[in-house]
Amino acid sequence: MKKYNFNAGPCVLPKPAIEATIEAIRDFDNTGIGLLEISHRTPGWERIMKETADLWKELLNIPDNYQVLFLGGGASTQFFEVPANLLEKKAAYLQTGVWAKKAIKEAKLYGEVEVVASSEDKNYSYIPKGYTIPTDADYFHITTNNTIYGTEIHEDIDSPVTLVADMSSDIMSRPLDVSKYGLIYGGAQKNVGPAGVAFVIVREDILGKVNRPLPTMVDYRTHIGKEEKDRSMFNTPPVFAIYVMHETLKWVKAQGGVDAMYKRNKEKAEMLYAEIDRNKMFVGTAAVEDRSLMNVCFVMNEEYKDKEGEFLDFAKARGMVGIKGHRSVGGFRASIYNACPMESVEALVDCMKEFEKNNG
Ligand SMILES: *Cc1c(COP(=O)(O)O)cnc(C)c1O
Repeated sequence: MKKYNFNAGPCVLPKPAIEATIEAIRDFDNTGIGLLEISHRTPGWERIMKETADLWKELLNIPDNYQVLFLGGGASTQFFEVPANLLEKKAAYLQTGVWAKKAIKEAKLYGEVEVVASSEDKNYSYIPKGYTIPTDADYFHITTNNTIYGTEIHEDIDSPVTLVADMSSDIMSRPLDVSKYGLIYGGAQKNVGPAGVAFVIVREDILGKVNRPLPTMVDYRTHIGKEEKDRSMFNTPPVFAIYVMHETLKWVKAQGGVDAMYKRNKEKAEMLYAEIDRNKMFVGTAAVEDRSLMNVCFVMNEEYKDKEGEFLDFAKARGMVGIKGHRSVGGFRASIYNACPMESVEALVDCMKEFEKNNG
């Protein structure tokens, strides 16, 4: 049976990226040796590193005074690496979900944290608005897409202090004004590759301002290095994950870049939300204006609460994979990242319609 993959992360990747990686694992760059068996100091690999960083710069229009780094440890390592490098006295955070809360917990190890607003009162079903960013904060941290709750900050906000964003689950899904941010980070495994590598886009002038001693690996400047060929090469980079990212970004470019991704993502999300709003058996959980284009969360309408398990089985029998909601929201979550084709969304919508016809 054909499978429609709605996993939240790790998740669906572009088929050509998978195929190219399989080939490279067998024979990298016509060397007769596989990608996982070469030295990361060979010119062939140095070229992949440079091309990957260049693809990031090109696709997101990253200004010259920013560096793009590929680091191990996932987004969760950035939760402490960010405050270690940037928090001298006080940082401000927007608490929009569990990931934001985890980032806040780590930041508190390094200094004062002001939570400027939180949507915890309504189980993070909306993005707080009308808050004030303290001008005495070293930085302001946001989570642009809240993977678990299906809410998203749709615009690049203006911040009077350095803006730091966890973009794990919506990077490359829409055009971005990188110049509004001091630092953007995330795990690759939602929109730009497999697990095993995190991306960090950092404006160089914000670094080196804290007084604490930093372990070498924690200091972003270590990974920037002196020359381009040293970048993200201080220690052995996660070559497999970076290679898949390289191929994934090549695919994004071939599709027409982030503008094309954005257009397609809007079409997919609109189609799915329209069905949720039309179908009397389902109801969306996120505030309408804050609905994520990446993670679509919905539950059974009150009247049909007892049908949840039945719908999951029904959908599974039709090839839907990964639509069970996160335990903190319940119901269903369809993650429709860049590589999720329109066909999958159509199949899910058909499934919801059929279920309504049989049960509604
Ligand atoms: C998945 C996710 C994380 C955690 O990423 P890891 O790479 O597993 O540490 C952090 N933030 C957001 C928004 C996420 O979606």
